[in-house]
Amino acid sequence: MSHTVTLLPGDGIGPEVANAMRLCVDATGVKINWEVQEVGEKSIAKNGKPLTDEVLESIRRNKTAIKGPITTPVGKGFRSVNVQLRQSLDLFACVRPCLYYEGTKTPIKNVNLMIFRENTEDLYAGIEFDLGTGECDRLRDLINEMSPKKIKQDSAISIKPISRSGSKRIVKFAFDWAVKAGRKKVTAVHKANIMKFTDGLFLKCAQEVAKEYEGKIEFSDNIVDNMCMQLIQSTFLYDCLVLPNLYGDIVSDLCAGLVGGLGIAPGANYGDEIALFEPVHGSAPKYAGKNKVNPTATILSAVWMLRHLKEEAAADRLDKAVRTVLKEGKDVTYDLKADRNDPTAVGTMQMAEAICKKL
Ligand code: NAD
Repeated sequence: MSHTVTLLPGDGIGPEVANAMRLCVDATGVKINWEVQEVGEKSIAKNGKPLTDEVLESIRRNKTAIKGPITTPVGKGFRSVNVQLRQSLDLFACVRPCLYYEGTKTPIKNVNLMIFRENTEDLYAGIEFDLGTGECDRLRDLINEMSPKKIKQDSAISIKPISRSGSKRIVKFAFDWAVKAGRKKVTAVHKANIMKFTDGLFLKCAQEVAKEYEGKIEFSDNIVDNMCMQLIQSTFLYDCLVLPNLYGDIVSDLCAGLVGGLGIAPGANYGDEIALFEPVHGSAPKYAGKNKVNPTATILSAVWMLRHLKEEAAADRLDKAVRTVLKEGKDVTYDLKADRNDPTAVGTMQMAEAICKKL
C-alpha cells in the first residue's frame, strides 16, 4: 500500500535533515508519495507569507505530514509557523519520546520517558498586547480596575488561557497512550501553587481524568521547578509526563539533554485525525547548507510516522538501523563523537546512507 505524505523541508538545516530522512524512509521499501510544500523563508519570498492555505489544505487532505524546523524571528516579525500549524490543524497533543540509544553522549543511561505537551493554549496562544498600543492600555486599565494587584503602566501583556476541555483532552491522550504502550505511570506537571486558577485547573482536570484509570495507570503530580531537579536526580521515578504548553516546551528540551541532545530527539503532533511529525530541534541557521548536522532526530520522527501509518515492521527496521549506527559510533555526525572536532565525523547525508545500509 502507498501513502501520500506532506513534506515541509523548512528553513536552515531543515532541507538537509528532510532529505536525509526521505532517503532512509524510501530505503525501507514503504511507498510514500511525498507532496513537498514550501513554508518559512522560501514561502515568504514566493508568497509574501510563511504559511499558505495551500500548505494547510495539503496536510488536511493527506492527514499525515513531516517537517523540518522553521525559523521564527525573536521578539518581532511573523508569529511562529509551528504554532500556527499546531493551532490551525488543532494538533493538540505534542508527543516527545526521550529514549536512550547506546552510543549517544548522555549524562545517564537507559532513560525511557514520554512527554505529552498540550499544544494549542497557555502562553503560546499568541494573545499578546504590545507596550504603547491602545489595546494594551485598555486591557491594563480594565485589569487594574478589577484586580487588587496592579499592572505597571510600562508593561506589555501576554495572556495565559488554560481551558478545562484543552486540559482534559491532553491528559486523556497521555493516559490512553500509556495504557496502549503498557506504561505504568503518568505525572502531571504544573505550577498550581502560584497560578492557582490556570495551572490549578490543569491539575484538577488531570486528577479527574486520572480517576478513570485508577488501578490501571498510577498518577502523580509535580511542580515544574521541582520536576526539573527530579528529572536529573531521580529520573527513573518517572515514566510519562503531561504538561501545559510552555512547561512542555522547556521540560522536553531538558529531557532531550538526558538522551544525548537535540540532534537525536524526535517529536510528533497529533490531532483527532491529523498527525505532523518533526524533530524537537530548530533550524540552527549557522549550520545551514554545510551537510554537518545530525539527521537522527528527523529520521526517528519518521520512525514514529511509519508507526502512525501502520508500517510497524518498517518502523522497527529503521529504528534498529539507527540504533546500530549510533552504537557503532563510526559513521556519525560531529555532535555524536567524543571530540566535536573529530575529523572522522561524517556529514548529514553520509550518516543517512550508513543507516540505509543497515536496513
Ligand atoms: P536550534 O535547535 O536551531 O539550535 C541550537 C543548537 O543546537 C545549534 O546551534 C546546534 O548546536 C544544536 N543542534 C540543533 N539541531 C541539531 C542537529 N540536528 N544536529 C546537531 N546539533 C544540533 O535552536 P535555536 O538556535 O534556539 O533556534 C534557531 C531557529 O529555529 C529559531 O528561529 C527558532 O525559532 C527555530 N526553532 C524552530 C523549531 C521548529 O521548527 N519546530 C523548534 C525550535 C526552534
